Amino acid sequence: MTPPPAIAVLGSTNMDLVAYVPTAPRLGETVTGSAFRTIPGGKGANQAVAAARAGGAVSMIGAVGADDFGTQLRTALADAHVDTGGLRTVGGASGIAHIVVDDDGGNSIIVVPGANGTVGGLADGDDARIAAAGALLLQLEIPLSGVLAGARAARAHGVRVVLTPAPAQPLPGELLANTDLLVPNEHEAAALTGTSDPYKAAAELLATVPEVVVTLGAEGSLYAARGAEPVLVPAPRVQAEDTTAAGDTFVGALAVASGEGRPMPEALAWASAAAALSVQRAGASASMPYRHEIDAFTG
Ligand code: ATP
Repeated sequence: MTPPPAIAVLGSTNMDLVAYVPTAPRLGETVTGSAFRTIPGGKGANQAVAAARAGGAVSMIGAVGADDFGTQLRTALADAHVDTGGLRTVGGASGIAHIVVDDDGGNSIIVVPGANGTVGGLADGDDARIAAAGALLLQLEIPLSGVLAGARAARAHGVRVVLTPAPAQPLPGELLANTDLLVPNEHEAAALTGTSDPYKAAAELLATVPEVVVTLGAEGSLYAARGAEPVLVPAPRVQAEDTTAAGDTFVGALAVASGEGRPMPEALAWASAAAALSVQRAGASASMPYRHEIDAFTG
């Protein structure tokens, strides 16, 4: 049997504090929710769990706080068989994400970085963790200096860099220059390029990175690579309950499929199946499918 693809994730761990409401409150309004859950999340940790459940050998680099949430976040990653040797415990609070999910499955999110704000660079052992991986997954919920340090290290070791540019913000040219695959959703693609047409946005982004996947929610995803026609990969039609972390599930599964050497269109279809399974269930990491479920869904 071939070994599972090794994937390093440098990014955030947050405790998601999720309130379920019929309609999200407007400013100044109070609404009664139907349920509340605390669920381990953070874009980094979510991608790590998604990749591990999809069959990757995953190593998480980041930080949690010295609080109960920190202990729970570490345990959740370990339970998902993610290597937490690169996850430091620092003083102060863990990161949290305050999430409102409405009856249509839409969400709005406030992130308070806490310990994630301390991940401004690489610590002892991180370079080796990145060098041992086939791909490094990055997002923007830790300081940009940390993201950049990770991308530089990966590039130096010939490790594929997959960047999810969320939350949307201007990106340093050096970060894009060290990125192999950029995976924005349609809003992030628009924020990065100023155009809401995903085809135009992808074409523009190809000037800075060799490969782009723009995720389009229920519409699927658009794959563009230099020198090739863009490909629209449709999403399976499902009833969405909670789309939180659909993008992270997609990226984690995509990294595994690519790491197994599958061609991009096939890898994207598999990742779309993983994300479609996740939106039918509540929660972020709790909703992520296991490999056998993704295989069963893709038939
Ligand atoms: P989130 O911020 O909620 O994690 P995102 O905005 O980063 O998500 P999306 O573009 O909404 O990312 O979704 C990522 C992928 O998940 C899509 O490309 C698609 O494959 C899948 N997906 C999302 N929503 C649905 C849906 N309603 N039905 C089927 N698949 C979906």
